[in-house]
Amino acid sequence: MRQRQSAAQDMLKKHGIKPSFQRMQVLGEILAHGGHPTADEVYSWLSDIRPPIARATVYNTLNHLVDHGLLERFTLNRLETRYDLRIEKHGHFVCTRCGLVEDIPFPAELDSPRLEGYQIERADWLLRGSCPGCHEQIDNSPTPDRQASAPDGDEGQAAGVN
Ligand SMILES: [Zn+2]
Ligand SMILES: [Zn+2]
Repeated sequence: MRQRQSAAQDMLKKHGIKPSFQRMQVLGEILAHGGHPTADEVYSWLSDIRPPIARATVYNTLNHLVDHGLLERFTLNRLETRYDLRIEKHGHFVCTRCGLVEDIPFPAELDSPRLEGYQIERADWLLRGSCPGCHEQIDNSPTPDRQASAPDGDEGQAAGVN
């Protein structure tokens, strides 16, 4: 706990941010958990903190850390925003079944001559699919309704829409 706090404090100071109690707590939890949390997840990690930190404060603090280049923010879909400690250029793979988010390398083609003269300020590289664990489950689980009616399955679905 103490170590985490001093690591958070150092990072804040390095980025020219005043290390307030809230900022140290929010960043400390993100350092401890890692990954790509939502603001609500960060808020839930802080539920035991005394004095308590309001949900709005957590949101504001996260935005503040993004504005100062300490965190990266990206959207998985219209409703879900994730925060990322890793701020160097990288992309994400998202498992549409279990929600796992993995860091992936960025495609080298971004240095394309077609982009000469353009200044890129940020780039979102997001792949969706199923992770190895979920993929295995799909392969192994018997899905009789899908496989048995494969030939006319699509027609049946389309007809069922209206
Ligand atoms: Zn998965
Ligand atoms: Zn990431």
